[in-house]
Amino acid sequence: MPELPEVEAVRRGVEERLVGKILTEVRVREPRLRRPVPPLAPWIGRRLLRVERRGKYLLWRFAEGTLLVHLGMSGRLAFVAPDVPPGRHDHVDFLFEGSLLRYTDPRRFGFIAPLDADAERAMEARLGLEPWDERLTPAWARAKVRGRRRAVKEVLLFGDVVAGAGNIYACEALFLAGIHPGRPAETLDEDDWARLLAALRALFEAAIAAGGTTLRDHRTVAGEAGAYRGRLAVYGREGEPCPRCATPVRRVVQGGRSTFFCPVCQPPERTAW
Ligand SMILES: [Zn+2]
Repeated sequence: MPELPEVEAVRRGVEERLVGKILTEVRVREPRLRRPVPPLAPWIGRRLLRVERRGKYLLWRFAEGTLLVHLGMSGRLAFVAPDVPPGRHDHVDFLFEGSLLRYTDPRRFGFIAPLDADAERAMEARLGLEPWDERLTPAWARAKVRGRRRAVKEVLLFGDVVAGAGNIYACEALFLAGIHPGRPAETLDEDDWARLLAALRALFEAAIAAGGTTLRDHRTVAGEAGAYRGRLAVYGREGEPCPRCATPVRRVVQGGRSTFFCPVCQPPERTAW
């Protein structure tokens, strides 16, 4: 699933190629995404001013309004030559003055939707802070989860403390911070949060610099595979030696998702299970 670094890599690529250009044509081959693709004809002729990212959402800003693009589980945006025929999962083409940006999504959990001011306020109210937001301090995070007995890993995935972390970065950050993924969120003290937030920021920064991970269907918009996979310490490595202490990495299921961790480096005190 594309997480913050992958979405940021896409944002940069789209911004670099398309800002200042006019949307000249849209071809929708399969409108049945997680939400049906809305009529996009009104957007034709509009000039793209900026591309922003909030959590895992892309916001395409036009003078006349904003289009929200979410890549879901397996969505991808890539520039292709105008004469490349679409494949089975290539659902939408956006043409900006000769540049073809193709939306591909085998599982169709992504969506494209206009975002008006009310919807944007609702989204802001639901999302956590960006990792680099100055308001995101250990004290703020601790106060945010007060009284929540849910496991810290699940709280990270819920995304209302820090926006943008999915399964990969949640597992990796908890490992780097030495925090057991099953600990009730409310038991983390400010030192724990300081380590966890620092770990998330470091991981995101490294992954953005590397163009994202290659774990699933992610590619950068230029079609290159990300180079981050080789740097993952525990994610996807069940049974392999922990890079710190050589104890086999364990996998458990939390909230229907796999969690990978080291039982020694992430001591199981006060877990939620
Ligand atoms: Zn270990």
